[in-house]
Amino acid sequence: MNLKDYKTRFNCRLCNSSNLISVLKLESTPPANAFVTKEECIKEQEKYPLKLFFCNNCNHVQLTDVVDPSELFSNYVYVSGTSPVFVNHFKNYAKTIIKDYSPDLNKYVLDIGSNDGTLLKFFKKMGYKVIGVDPAEEISKKANEDGIFTLNGFFDLEMAEKIKDKYSNASLITANNVFAHCDDLSGITDAVSKLLTPEGLFVFEVSYLVDVYQKTLFDTIYHEHLSYHSVTPLIKFFENKGMTLIDVLKMNTHGGSIRCVIKNTSNAEVKKSVENFVNLEKSLAFHESNTFIKFSNKIEERKKELCDLLKKIKADKKSIAGFGAPAKATTLMYEFGLNNDILDFIVDDSPLKQGLFSPGLNIPVFSSSQIETLKPDYLLILAWNFADSIIKNNQKFIESGGKFIIPLPKLEVI
Ligand SMILES: [Zn+2]
Repeated sequence: MNLKDYKTRFNCRLCNSSNLISVLKLESTPPANAFVTKEECIKEQEKYPLKLFFCNNCNHVQLTDVVDPSELFSNYVYVSGTSPVFVNHFKNYAKTIIKDYSPDLNKYVLDIGSNDGTLLKFFKKMGYKVIGVDPAEEISKKANEDGIFTLNGFFDLEMAEKIKDKYSNASLITANNVFAHCDDLSGITDAVSKLLTPEGLFVFEVSYLVDVYQKTLFDTIYHEHLSYHSVTPLIKFFENKGMTLIDVLKMNTHGGSIRCVIKNTSNAEVKKSVENFVNLEKSLAFHESNTFIKFSNKIEERKKELCDLLKKIKADKKSIAGFGAPAKATTLMYEFGLNNDILDFIVDDSPLKQGLFSPGLNIPVFSSSQIETLKPDYLLILAWNFADSIIKNNQKFIESGGKFIIPLPKLEVI
């Protein structure tokens, strides 16, 4: 293990308590997006522990082994503007925030982890000045070329102070799929609070632990996702920062997410939605570590079902390929033992991944046009949250006798 790109913390990311209980231990994996070239396959990839902890004090669920973010995000290949689903999501996002909260037009909107500027484009269209911040160099460059002013780097107190000196305060700061990715949540929140006006809003979206738990989305557990947020621990966290969690909305993105709205002042008026989420979490016993310890039994059941099926297919001398190579496939493949004895290859529609090999297990990734050439008997859908559209778009495969396997949330063969 290379110690320079990996560290372990011993206190809770939200409340600092060291009263952490280990609740789930998944197989160690390389970074989930670390696809390699043929030449790089010779060298064994670094693997990092993937262990989930529960904070007995504030009930926050989190990873404590932190892989150096520059290892994970500097060459990030994900570009939000390439997915029409997300473009539409961000369009509605901007519209809803403006309609519900009308942030001060004389100030500006800042997006942390702005990627290619997809969200900010919509705020800009509505007349707002916008600033993006993103650690990925190539993507930041592209955003600037597209007219979205973007600073390349990690958002922290130092950067917030520089931005404040130059551009004064923001009326709105957004952060989507960032609040789960950041180790220093306290630092980033201090920086947000410093930069916002007192009336200003911080809005972020993250995957919701209730969905992870209820739908057994354990494959969303990978090193980029350090936190598995529920609403209850966040209330106290923001309260301690002199801020108020005023509203929570349920979103369908990433298998189930929440949008949290935080006002940069204490004792602000709180909407009923917050209480509803707290009650839901209570009803699921999210305040007990045992709830998450039992979660591992559910994963074991899914694993056994799938492995029994795959063994049978292999005994019949049939071939299996994977469909989709999202980051979460890495956790799924390691946890369920889907190595190159099981999967001959993976197809993925992203040209950025085609021609490369899957992290650690080195399974080749091809374009989906290879399905017709290589004719696997079964396609195991690794990007199973897109199963419906994958099956719809690949009717030819079914017509020629091929079968799809959907591994989660419920094992299905189609
Ligand atoms: Zn805690």
